[in-house]
Amino acid sequence: MKDVAIIGGGPAGLMAAEVIATAGVPVALYERRQTPGRKFLMAGRGGLNLTHSEDMPDFMRRYGNAAATLAPIIAEFSPLMLRAWCEGLREPTFVGTSGRVFPQSFKASPLLRAWRSRLDSLGVRFLLQHDWQGWADDSALIFSSPDGEVKAKPAATVLALGGASWPKLGADGNWTKIMAQKNIPVSPLLPANCGFAVEWSDVFRNKFAGSPLKQVTLSFADISVKGEVMITEKGLEGGIVYAVSALLRCEIMRKGSVTFTLDLKPDLSSTVLLARLQTPRAAKSFSNFLREKGGLSPAAVGLLQENRSAHDYTPEALTALIKAFPVYSTAPFSIDRAISTAGGIPFTALDDHLMLKDKPGVFAAGEMLDWEAPTGGYLLQGTFSTAVRAAKGALAWVGNSKSKM
Ligand SMILES: Cc1cc2nc3c(=O)[nH]c(=O)nc-3n(C[C@H](O)[C@H](O)[C@H](O)COP(=O)(O)OP(=O)(O)OC[C@H]3O[C@@H](n4cnc5c(N)ncnc54)[C@H](O)[C@@H]3O)c2cc1C
Repeated sequence: MKDVAIIGGGPAGLMAAEVIATAGVPVALYERRQTPGRKFLMAGRGGLNLTHSEDMPDFMRRYGNAAATLAPIIAEFSPLMLRAWCEGLREPTFVGTSGRVFPQSFKASPLLRAWRSRLDSLGVRFLLQHDWQGWADDSALIFSSPDGEVKAKPAATVLALGGASWPKLGADGNWTKIMAQKNIPVSPLLPANCGFAVEWSDVFRNKFAGSPLKQVTLSFADISVKGEVMITEKGLEGGIVYAVSALLRCEIMRKGSVTFTLDLKPDLSSTVLLARLQTPRAAKSFSNFLREKGGLSPAAVGLLQENRSAHDYTPEALTALIKAFPVYSTAPFSIDRAISTAGGIPFTALDDHLMLKDKPGVFAAGEMLDWEAPTGGYLLQGTFSTAVRAAKGALAWVGNSKSKM
């Protein structure tokens, strides 16, 4: 019987394996690490945000330029279907206050355990510590394994090799070299949902690296997001930075640098803040005055003091600085620390079944495709939905289109 090889044991590869094995087609899943799903487990550490509950038009807007291409793919395996799938693995989901969807246990490990046991019972063969090296001249897949070189010639292949963020978890983007050898186009892999470098003074870095700036509003262009940012040794990161990271990254690529602003006191109007700052400072130190009158945290005061002239500012100028503190950056953090990867195989290199136009019988899914989205469950949803589409394509290719998902 015709078989399918899946390469990569992240959520995309596991989902493709399930769809194909459920249709009764033999599946071998090759994974370079000792265990599958390492990034999936990491994603579950702070709460596995599987998808989002917002209306589909809003949901799809999160995928930016790729929204039109992904819309029918996500409709085919929708957020509701993902939640039902999760429930089928005895992990019912719930909607958090922000509309984000999580499994009841909040973690990835129970879900992954149940999923692995389902895949085992479907007969999926796991070939772990098999590192894909590319194609031989006769189109066979070549793997390096603890037992030496292994070759396979499946009827169809689904590539689910991930991006290049957090490479120690398995996906390092090395597959781009294999694609280059075959002249398959790949858009450069770039950090997405990442922090941005800021040149702090030594004093500020030593005192505040690791401290959050809570309840601030980050603004760039016409976008403002409220929440928390984390001060790190090298700059700023955190949810609201990730939310605008694609825009900031593009601006840096265009102009070499970007300046965004932080409103350090978003719940206080400029008028009220000014009135407070107009009271005499008397013998108080600058920082004590700002803490008392402005209600600012020590980290926020430290940030204001990064502007060496702030001490001499008039109350009006100080108010303006607190309401729109400029942050200048010339680089995103390295892709190693990014939550996800932008770039990858462009949809123009794929047909509607996510099959490589230049490599018939080879499909691709997940983070290795050229789309990006903010955090909020959109990454895993896009990963799962593209995997279902690619798996159905592989099934059709091997002549079995009885997919049950
Ligand atoms: C800290 C963190 C938190 C996250 N939290 C969330 C979240 O809450 N919600 C959300 O939606 N998303 C989250 N994500 C993103 C999410 O984890 C990814 O979108 C998802 O894992 C992508 O799945 P994938 O299968 O495409 O790639 P991966 O999960 O990266 O899997 C790719 C697999 O391919 C294997 N592989 C690579 N090259 C080879 C090779 N040559 N041979 C054999 N095997 C190979 C790798 O070892 C890996 O197992 C988070 C990511 C991180 C880093």
